[in-house]
Amino acid sequence: MDSPTLFPEPNRPQPPDTQLEDLHQRLTAAYGPFPPREVWDPLTQLIYSLLSARTKTAESHAVLRNLRDRYDGWQGNWDKLRDAPVEEIEQAIAGATYPEVKAPQLKATLQEITRRSGKLSLDFLTRYKTEKIRSWLEQFPGVGVKTSGAVVNFSSLRRRALCIDSHHQRIAIRLGLAPKSADARRVEELLMAIAPAEWSPEKLDEHHSLIKLHGQQRCTAREPQCRRCTLQPVCPTGGGDGHLGLSTAR
Ligand code: SF4
Repeated sequence: MDSPTLFPEPNRPQPPDTQLEDLHQRLTAAYGPFPPREVWDPLTQLIYSLLSARTKTAESHAVLRNLRDRYDGWQGNWDKLRDAPVEEIEQAIAGATYPEVKAPQLKATLQEITRRSGKLSLDFLTRYKTEKIRSWLEQFPGVGVKTSGAVVNFSSLRRRALCIDSHHQRIAIRLGLAPKSADARRVEELLMAIAPAEWSPEKLDEHHSLIKLHGQQRCTAREPQCRRCTLQPVCPTGGGDGHLGLSTAR
């Protein structure tokens, strides 16, 4: 008679992780599918991401529109913005938070990109692998993992990545998908490790947008509205069972 199997076979295929798919379906049911974003070239996305830190989305878009009008940036050519005096840029981005910090940072970044690549464009990044693009971008002041994730995922580069902003970081931790101590880089590593392999860059973008909206409308930093939250049954912070995943959730 065969002895009972005490240990699982080492190479046995594991079932796919369905936590993010479950999360995505619940948020889509609550908020509807997210409209596709307007995709920009990577340099315009970088400029927007630098300006939008701690600034509301509508105000960030207004600032970018103003810059495009003022410096002929509608075709992704930002030479006039790079060459403008810092004081003038500061005034042009006054609708964003901390313009006095962002203006010199922006000008220095545009100058440095020009110096390193011979012209003010990030189109050459299409030849690089995703990790190389991100480390190249993260050498510039003010560019961290959130901004590099936004550039590679949201722009015409369209690579697989998750932009972990403060909403995404907070919600991943509250849902038990990341430990409390996890910074944005660690949260992205943990989430990408369980993101379905078939999710396209566009789907990862939509997932980020749904989580961000949930963070703005329901799971806010100061007063999460757990009683009215569509994720409450599976959220340990809200008193749910903590069992995200399609096989156990319904
Ligand atoms: S149940 Fe509460 S903590 Fe959990 S996701 Fe919803 S609002 Fe956030």
